[in-house]
Amino acid sequence: MVQKNLPFSAEELQNIVENYKTPFHIYDEKAIRDNVRRLQKAFSWVKGFKEHFAVKATPNPYIMKILAEEGIGADCSSLAELVLAEKVGLKGEDIVFTSNDTPAEEYRKARELGALINLDDITHIDFLAKEAGIPEMISFRYNPGPLRQGGNTIIGNPEDAKYGVSKDQIFDGYAKLRSLGAKRFGLHTMVISNELDPDYFVETARMMFELAVEIKQKVGIRIEIVNLGGGIGIPYRPEQEAVDLEYVGDNIRKVYEEIIVPNGLDPMRIAMECGRMITGPYGYLVATALHKKEIYKNYIGLDACMADLMRPGIYGAYHHITVVGKENEESDHRYDVTGSLCENNDKFAVDRMLPKIDIGDVIVIHDAGAHGHAMGFNYNGKLRSKELLLKEDRTVELIRRAETLEDYFATIDFSKL
Ligand SMILES: *Cc1c(COP(=O)(O)O)cnc(C)c1O
Repeated sequence: MVQKNLPFSAEELQNIVENYKTPFHIYDEKAIRDNVRRLQKAFSWVKGFKEHFAVKATPNPYIMKILAEEGIGADCSSLAELVLAEKVGLKGEDIVFTSNDTPAEEYRKARELGALINLDDITHIDFLAKEAGIPEMISFRYNPGPLRQGGNTIIGNPEDAKYGVSKDQIFDGYAKLRSLGAKRFGLHTMVISNELDPDYFVETARMMFELAVEIKQKVGIRIEIVNLGGGIGIPYRPEQEAVDLEYVGDNIRKVYEEIIVPNGLDPMRIAMECGRMITGPYGYLVATALHKKEIYKNYIGLDACMADLMRPGIYGAYHHITVVGKENEESDHRYDVTGSLCENNDKFAVDRMLPKIDIGDVIVIHDAGAHGHAMGFNYNGKLRSKELLLKEDRTVELIRRAETLEDYFATIDFSKL
């Protein structure tokens, strides 16, 4: 069986566990920095390439700050995410606002920050004009519908997805924006999630470049920036391979030279808004085995639950598990690894072969750095866990404390009972 490594030794982790107590999420700063540098290098041939981190993946300002230091912006889709971007010091077009079903106050906040607004529908043109005004630079999210095959279970097929503007509407949409005073234009799409096939991203770029050319020909508008969205997958399973970013960058370059250059659209900027691949593999949920029960199946109950990581529960997603200190032992025990919710989906793994687990063993759940803590919730009155940062100098910083009962009850006025 292929191994998945940890960024700390068993001894280092034991110290962290003693200091901070499980459960917690811990993020590996150095690995995050190395990874984003690699992404930027793969696209260094693009003048002004920009990655806007999809804040929803890991909405922690300490993580966003590290990314900002690396030149990465934010992709926001709610008021809270815009405020986080603002707190981190991001400004103007470093922030992309890719929302849908958008409330007026969120458009107003996006305008106040000078964010690049990415409209989800042509009806939002009038809505935005009325509520916040049309900015000089604006963009559309494109939904290719049946023109782009092969979505997956997380985002669905483009044709069934609620997002974006259809092809027959997009040309009039740009013309209308221009008539209302917009002067600079972007084009965006997000058609896939957690995809590991690098060619998918190259083909998406081709589709977008061709559309940029068509927009120029039909409307006379020059697309200044094409945002290819996120969706780069990560190898959750040990036998899977990460997307070859250099391959993606090199091949998108070829398509750029084939389509953008001869059609007079060069220089055109390329942006992305990846979330999962930026932090996903570099965050770990660390828990302790609390109970062990043997009925019709064998269960290991952790002190973490689905509120800390709901992907296995809602998608049946695989997350690799390491029993700390037992990495070299035989995986000869079959367990369901569970949390404590009164909800039978609350399992981190089902029928997983692992080394023999004893109560008190420290369990690491891998690839929890994106859509992990972020998707937490309070069902059953479960409190959300803390977040830690393993810094480059190997020290550990608390970057979000655990929720308390006071936090949980803060919205209820018990004095009026
Ligand atoms: C979620 C999302 C992303 C990021 O997707 P990943 O799969 O995490 O890369 C980017 N853009 C939009 C609009 C999103 O909703």
